[in-house]
Amino acid sequence: MSMEGNVALVTGGSRGIGRAVCVELARRGAAVAVNYAGNSRAAEETVQLCRALGVEAEVFQADVADSAACDTLIAAVRDRFGRLDILVNNAGVSRDSLLMTAKEEDFSKTLDTNLKGAYFCTRAAARVMLRQKYGRIVCLSSVVGLRGNPGQTAYAASKAGVLGLVKAAAKELAGRDITVNAVAPGLIETDMTAALPDKAKQAMLATIPKGRPGSPEEVARAAAFFAEKESAYITGQVLCVDGGMAV
Ligand code: NAP
Repeated sequence: MSMEGNVALVTGGSRGIGRAVCVELARRGAAVAVNYAGNSRAAEETVQLCRALGVEAEVFQADVADSAACDTLIAAVRDRFGRLDILVNNAGVSRDSLLMTAKEEDFSKTLDTNLKGAYFCTRAAARVMLRQKYGRIVCLSSVVGLRGNPGQTAYAASKAGVLGLVKAAAKELAGRDITVNAVAPGLIETDMTAALPDKAKQAMLATIPKGRPGSPEEVARAAAFFAEKESAYITGQVLCVDGGMAV
């Protein structure tokens, strides 16, 4: 399926799953706007990987936790590429700690980035997509948002919140050929999970029927599926990419 003529914005496209999503969308022919927070070198590398596939790509710095910055980001992408067909809300952080020792600032940072970030970008993108009468929005949730996980109350709350956002926005936007879906990865090998203590990783691995972590590319294929024009009749859905973890 070709995405030629489509313009995609991937938040947190500089590394990990976001980078793999950028590359997968580029491979399918979409022009790619690569958002990042602070890691400009990694974002530039993603852009080079996309351009090597023959598509246009540019970096766009913005903190998705900042409402005004998200409005500016979407406007900048639309000004540069003329339209916005695909938004992948991928930017995310995890600040893990047990409920009884968690700091409020970590809870706020996690919610602000993972949930409010997805909200701000979805709202700004929807303004453009409603006028176009076309759009594909994909949000990165998590198996942790479906099932919870000890030590991850803030992260789980943010990712469960994303699912509510997806379902409500899907219903609001369906009439204009705008779909909103979620991908819920399990344990994927990225910088985020490299930071997990070995004990926590082993405990998670033991719950994966496939017996191994997933790759960013395996998640990217699911995100790209939702982003296809031909996926028009699928909205408000959650697709787990988790080796059977959430079954
Ligand atoms: P990662 O390797 O830690 O990369 C995080 C990305 O998000 C980076 O590109 C980072 O940009 C960007 N980012 C962070 N805060 C941001 C902000 N305020 N504004 C804009 N960009 C920001 O993470 P990952 O493992 O690829 O995870 C990607 C998404 O999948 C996240 O939403 C995560 O919660 C979700 N997920 C991951 C797993 C997993 O096992 N890895 C499982 C389930 C769900 P910089 O490079 O500029 O810092």
